[in-house]
Amino acid sequence: MEKQYSNKQFNLHCHSFYCGHGEGEVDEFCQAAINAGLEVLGESEHCPLPDDRYGSTRMQYAQLDNYIHDCRAAEAKHAGSLIVFCGAECDWVDEYRNYYEDELLGKKGLDYALLSVHYVFDENNQEQLVIRGKPLGTAGLSRYTDKYIKGLESGLFLFGCHPDLFGMMYRQWDANSASCSRAIIQAALELDIPLEINGLGMKRKTDMEKEKHESQDFMYPVPQFWEIAAEYGVKVIVNSDSHRPEDVYGEGRRLAEAFALDMGVRRVSMIVRDGRPSVV
Ligand SMILES: [Zn+2]
Ligand SMILES: [Zn+2]
Repeated sequence: MEKQYSNKQFNLHCHSFYCGHGEGEVDEFCQAAINAGLEVLGESEHCPLPDDRYGSTRMQYAQLDNYIHDCRAAEAKHAGSLIVFCGAECDWVDEYRNYYEDELLGKKGLDYALLSVHYVFDENNQEQLVIRGKPLGTAGLSRYTDKYIKGLESGLFLFGCHPDLFGMMYRQWDANSASCSRAIIQAALELDIPLEINGLGMKRKTDMEKEKHESQDFMYPVPQFWEIAAEYGVKVIVNSDSHRPEDVYGEGRRLAEAFALDMGVRRVSMIVRDGRPSVV
C-alpha cells in the first residue's frame, strides 16, 4: 500500500523527554499532531551512541529500547488516525557509520535517520557544540561543511537537518559562507537528499529579533543559504524540530512555512509505502 502526503501533512523532527533536553512523552507528541491535523508524525531523538558520547545533549544508550517501545506503542494506539514513525537525529561522526547502519537502522529497526552536524573540531582539536558564542572561523566553517557533506554521502539519511546551523557561529555572509553553502546544496542536489528549513531556529531567531530589535540573519535559517537552495532547485523539507508537544505545529513551524514560501524553494512530499517513509 502506498500513500503520498504533502509537507504540510507531516512532521518528522520531534524530540521528547528522551533526548535529555526535551519535554513530554512520545504519546503526547502524537496527540498534539492529531490535534494539529497532521497525518504523519516522526519522533527523532538525538541519537544515543554506544559510548554515550555527547551524553549531555542526547538520549542515553540505555534508554534506546524504551524509546523504541514507546514509539511502537503509540504507532499501534493511533493506527487509523496517525502514522507514527520511530527515527533518530544522528550527528555525523565517521566512526559511528556502522552503528547507525547496522544497529539503529538494521537490528533495532528504526524507520529513518536524520543527518545533523552539531559538533565541529576547533583549531585546538577540541570538539565544540555549534551554538552562538565562540566564532567558528573560516577553517571551522570548512570542517563543518566537509562533515555535513560526508554525512549526506553516507546515504543513510532521509534528509539533512538545519544545514545552515553554521550561521550561529559564522556570523557573516561572505565568500566563505557562500561557497560552503553552495557545496552543501550542490551535494544534496546530486545525491537527491532534501535539506531542512528548521522551525526551532525560526522561532529562536524571531524571538531574538523581537527582544533585540535587530535582524538576526545569521541565526539559522540563513536567508542567503535558502536563496541559493531555491536557485539550485534542491528539495526542501520544513519541520518543527519540536522539543515540546505544543511545538509540533506551533509558531516556529508556521514561521518556517512562511519563510519557505518567501524563499521560493521546492518542497518535498512524502510517500509511505508498506509502512516505510521516503521523500520525493
Ligand atoms: Zn535538541
Ligand atoms: Zn533536532
